[in-house]
Amino acid sequence: MKIKIAKNAGFCFGVRRAIDIAEKTAKRKFKVYTLGPIIHNPQEVGRLKKQGIETLKNPKKVKGGFIILRTHGIPFELHKKLEENKSINIIDATCPFVKRAQNIVKQLSTDIKSSDKTIILVGEKVHPEVVALVSYGNEKCVVIENIREAKKFKGCGDLNIVSQTTQTPKNFNNIVKVLKKRYKTKVYNTICKATLDRQKSAEKLATSVDLMIVVGGKNSGNTRRLAQICSAKIQTYHIETVNSLKEKWFKNIESVGLTAGASTPNWIVKEIEGIIKKIGEKRTC
Ligand code: SF4
Repeated sequence: MKIKIAKNAGFCFGVRRAIDIAEKTAKRKFKVYTLGPIIHNPQEVGRLKKQGIETLKNPKKVKGGFIILRTHGIPFELHKKLEENKSINIIDATCPFVKRAQNIVKQLSTDIKSSDKTIILVGEKVHPEVVALVSYGNEKCVVIENIREAKKFKGCGDLNIVSQTTQTPKNFNNIVKVLKKRYKTKVYNTICKATLDRQKSAEKLATSVDLMIVVGGKNSGNTRRLAQICSAKIQTYHIETVNSLKEKWFKNIESVGLTAGASTPNWIVKEIEGIIKKIGEKRTC
């Protein structure tokens, strides 16, 4: 059984940067917190916890030490509140590509003089990145997740369309197309290159194998989209760890494709590759 790994898979620049920042900060012998998981991978967050990096839901619990802002960013108001607390040191690990999208939304919300909801965010309403982006929009944002919502949308004025950094170009472009028919639009494509590269590589690989395994947090939006893209081509399983692998998936399979979301560490991918290899060897014995 052949195992092929996607050309672009696993940690992206933004995630690697955030983890480097967290690990360096942990060496400073102060208490280190992250507000919400620093990245969307429970296993890597667990590994960082062993280094003393604690994930918090409530910033009120922070008394002194360092607080690291996660790759997806945090809402504007919350950031301001944290800055007012002089007993904590803030280290911003928001990915620069997410920051760029935040700055675009912020600038648009200042430039738009009316109070109309004319900033459209293409993304998942409950995703932390989108929640934070909305907070920069000064109540002028509407989040649209899919074509159905785009068709239903009723607004007035010209529209400015921005994307969650990890959306698929297909969903983004389809929504833009629908809105363009009814409104004058200005499009800011803020999908990041790491996302595009991983999606393209996964799609290409899925067309050349019998089965795809997508590795990454179930809470990771970009991993879920990789799984959707692959599922459209071939039988695909989205798993977080080796424990979810099932031998029966590989019956009559000659080639397996392996890819991983931008927040999936290499050690998990390697572990899974090793087990799949063993399953293949067992079969040939
Ligand atoms: S997927 Fe893109 S936007 Fe998200 S952390 Fe990675 S590089 Fe940054």
